[in-house]
Amino acid sequence: MSLYRTALLGVARWGPLERFARRRGLRLGAHRFVAGESLDDGLATARRLADEGTYPILDVLGEFVARPEDAGAMADRIHAALRGLHGVPAPRAASVKPTQVGLGLDPDLGLAHLRALAVTAGEASVQLALDMEDHPHVDATLDALETLHDEGHHHVSTVLQSYLRRTPDDVERLLARDPVPTLRLVKGAYREPASVAYPRKADVDAAYARLLDRLLEGGGVVHVATHDEALIAHARARRDALGLPAERMTIQLLYGVKRGLQRRLVAEGERVGIYLPFGADWYGYFTRRLAERPANLAFVLRGLLG
Ligand SMILES: Cc1cc2nc3c(=O)[nH]c(=O)nc-3n(C[C@H](O)[C@H](O)[C@H](O)COP(=O)(O)OP(=O)(O)OC[C@H]3O[C@@H](n4cnc5c(N)ncnc54)[C@H](O)[C@@H]3O)c2cc1C
Repeated sequence: MSLYRTALLGVARWGPLERFARRRGLRLGAHRFVAGESLDDGLATARRLADEGTYPILDVLGEFVARPEDAGAMADRIHAALRGLHGVPAPRAASVKPTQVGLGLDPDLGLAHLRALAVTAGEASVQLALDMEDHPHVDATLDALETLHDEGHHHVSTVLQSYLRRTPDDVERLLARDPVPTLRLVKGAYREPASVAYPRKADVDAAYARLLDRLLEGGGVVHVATHDEALIAHARARRDALGLPAERMTIQLLYGVKRGLQRRLVAEGERVGIYLPFGADWYGYFTRRLAERPANLAFVLRGLLG
């Protein structure tokens, strides 16, 4: 992991800085990556993305809740978002962070909320992804996904991170299922120790290409979630070489990142999903976007001066 990224993710956890940033609100630069604070903001942007030929992956911001009642309140907000999405043209997708509905507090509580959300998503014809968080939560997230699939919620998917040393085994575990779950492949956004994650970017990138090849051969729908243009080209070439139908693969990008690439991929006929976060709890998400690219600090500076 780069020194910049490690330092930024570390400094961002300093309480006074977080309180200052939250007081300044989205004006601090977060509005580039976040649709707004209200559900109406999120849905309006979701409709605009659908008009532009992409499909929105709506995300109610929030993570790592400390009390069961907070998990319940968050689940209520996600139910409302899923129902609201029903008014947006298909395909419709949403993401939930398992710890935001209590999976980190109590696996049974988290699973109960995820199950109820899977039902609401099914009723609203929304594909629901369980985002992958930091490594202590990977087992519980995969277990929840498998339980929901055993119960027939095949519209629920999850995410695998190429920086984790364990991911090749997780890929085989999921490819052995029938049907194979839809999977999003990412590099990974959290600060992880070298004992569990590759510290060098070159290793993370190489692992991404290997995992991608295996997933494309493996049978389920694959969401190629990266802004790395070499890896996107690799995925498209591999899909074509294998003769896979278009519906086996989509490309997913983050709202506000590489907008030119987004337009180009749509114009070239690719299925493009845009991860679209909204909500008041934007701080953790925003700091991960800053950690990915030093140049993004310019948005913060502009927000401070503006
Ligand atoms: C749709 C989607 C869903 C995701 N879900 C998860 C998840 O569930 N769990 C998880 O751990 N991570 C998730 N991520 C984040 C992911 O793990 C990476 O942190 C993030 O995508 C940056 O890595 P990259 O693959 O784009 O490659 P990089 O090698 O970091 O970047 C490739 C290129 O894109 C540019 N770029 C990358 N990020 C930014 C940015 N923030 N701003 C401007 N330019 C940028 C870089 O400058 C570089 O040119 C998700 C990403 C996407 C796109």
